[in-house]
Amino acid sequence: MADAGSMKIDSESFRDSLGIVEKSGKRKWVYPKEPKGRFTNARNIFSGILLLNLFGTPFVTVNGHPFMLFDIINRKFILFGFAFGPHDFYLLGLSMITTIVFIFLFTAVFGRLFCGWVCPQTVFMESVFRKIDYWVEGDHRNQRRLNESPWSGEKIFKKGTKYVIYFVISFLTANMLLAWIIGIQALEKLVTDPVNEHVGGFTAMMLFTGLFYWIFIWFREQACILVCPYGRLQGVLLDPNSVVIAYDNFRGEPRGKIKRNEPRTLGDCIDCKECVTVCPTGIDIRNGTQLECVNCTACIDACDTVMDKVKKPRGLIRYDSLNGIKTQTRKIFTTRVIGYSIVQLVLLSLLSFFLLTRSEIDVTILRTPGMFYQEQQHDKVSNLYDMKVLNKTFEQKEIEVKLLNIEGEIQILGDKKSVPSQEAALTKMFVLLDKEAITKMNTPLQFGVYSNGQEVQRITTSFLGPVEKKDKHDDHEKDDHHMKDEKK
Ligand code: SF4
Ligand code: SF4
Repeated sequence: MADAGSMKIDSESFRDSLGIVEKSGKRKWVYPKEPKGRFTNARNIFSGILLLNLFGTPFVTVNGHPFMLFDIINRKFILFGFAFGPHDFYLLGLSMITTIVFIFLFTAVFGRLFCGWVCPQTVFMESVFRKIDYWVEGDHRNQRRLNESPWSGEKIFKKGTKYVIYFVISFLTANMLLAWIIGIQALEKLVTDPVNEHVGGFTAMMLFTGLFYWIFIWFREQACILVCPYGRLQGVLLDPNSVVIAYDNFRGEPRGKIKRNEPRTLGDCIDCKECVTVCPTGIDIRNGTQLECVNCTACIDACDTVMDKVKKPRGLIRYDSLNGIKTQTRKIFTTRVIGYSIVQLVLLSLLSFFLLTRSEIDVTILRTPGMFYQEQQHDKVSNLYDMKVLNKTFEQKEIEVKLLNIEGEIQILGDKKSVPSQEAALTKMFVLLDKEAITKMNTPLQFGVYSNGQEVQRITTSFLGPVEKKDKHDDHEKDDHHMKDEKK
């Protein structure tokens, strides 16, 4: 981590403590100043789009089915309208490996861009709940004053209002999360039916509500600093070429206040500490890249505003890499990035291949183990087969099997010609052939499997027949003829 962004000023001692913990070990509550500027505006718009997507997607259906569903309880997933089930486990595994490599690649190039712009924790914390704090309790100074003041009518009213709003949003968020897991129709039932009919679902809803409420009312930035595994991995994922939010110490140092009527001989940083005041994780980015930085861009906006006021170019704090700041040049395609890109390309190709060749109905037909052929009436011979049909679609499918390469009869045992959606059906069937049609012990069979009149699969297997004796008999006859010929 030190390498990744060690735009170090004096010493590394700041790494010995956390901005959110006092020397005594007690938590230091952070009251960040409300950020304002172009990055904050852009992030607000982007957060709005993400939230719209988060709350709106569960309502989107395709042919009566959810567009997206992550039903981990029943192991049923719908991605972009396509259903996936436990039978697609290999796709899930491959997708996870692809995602992990993508995270490595993305972080090596863009650092923690995801944390600042996309991570639900940052989106909710900075673009929803923190805004409620400013709206109800006022700016950062008023928030501190209110927290430190004794209980009064004003404090009870403001805190009460805030807690109610936090609870309502947490409840709605929990509902939204459940809608992604169980689907909007099941959620509707959960909300409208009596509680005792959905005790499990109702408990999950209240647990999620409680968890969100606790995270945003109390735990807050600690989720990123103490818990998030992605944050902990930054030390190994970043390198000196990764783009991070960085302070240009070459331009800014030596820092110092502006003194009136004195020509400025110091760097561009006027040591106003605005970048520290707005930081929601309580750090000073001028010390260098730190694990606590969630790339929220607040310090960029704060510093740009200051630079505008002192008539200096913007970008004293900006998106840049350590090498970019040192040398003013950016290198994206490092050996590491090329390596990750190659692996990513291979994985994506494999995943695309499996997705494109994935059939909606999977059929296997195998001769029943341990069974030989059966002599039947009317000079017929039969073999018993096991047929397994996996229906990965949303509809019940009627299945029909035909023999393609030979005349014969198929008798499906029982009435299992239709397979319910997302289920597998096992059935047995006899294939009957005329003895005369059997010329070898193993006669190749080709089945055509049809659903709703459409061929979905061709399967080749074999049919055991009583030809050994016939062959031997033929062989004896041949030998006799041969001997007779020889005698002649
Ligand atoms: S906001 Fe800019 S000028 Fe002010 S202390 Fe931070 S880096 Fe220096
Ligand atoms: S250092 Fe800047 S980008 Fe990082 S968390 Fe603090 S304000 Fe956000």
